[in-house]
Amino acid sequence: MFLASWIPGGPLPALVAGVASHLALDAIPHGDAGIGHWVHSSPNHVTKLQRLLPVVFADQILGGGVFLLLLSSPRLASTGFWILLAGAFGSILPDYITGIRDLLPKPPVWLESLHRIHQKCHYSGKEPFTILTGLIFQAVLVVTFLLLAFF
Ligand SMILES: [Zn+2]
Repeated sequence: MFLASWIPGGPLPALVAGVASHLALDAIPHGDAGIGHWVHSSPNHVTKLQRLLPVVFADQILGGGVFLLLLSSPRLASTGFWILLAGAFGSILPDYITGIRDLLPKPPVWLESLHRIHQKCHYSGKEPFTILTGLIFQAVLVVTFLLLAFF
């Protein structure tokens, strides 16, 4: 949303900036590897859904809450709603693409290609975080940026 407010040209460049920010930030380890392994090691499709959907649901609620909070940030006040929404949506779009690909029994080639680009951007070294320390790291970052947005 900060990038979206900064980049000129309206919702489309804001969306592209959001996607680019997601891919750039995926290169920083953030503790998702453990959750990804847990989901993808499911013995069957039903178990995979039972593991994936609560994570996605919690992610959407938290992401939506942060989005609504940031809408009242004085730093973003001069940027239009649709530009901020495009930036926010772009920043989660790579995860939607991967999530839809994970749910389809036989994903189309183009979806598989987009997913592969997304995967290539992920940090692939030794994961320094456990699921818990990764969540703490992400919570600290979110709170820090919320403070920066309002003070
Ligand atoms: Zn990602």
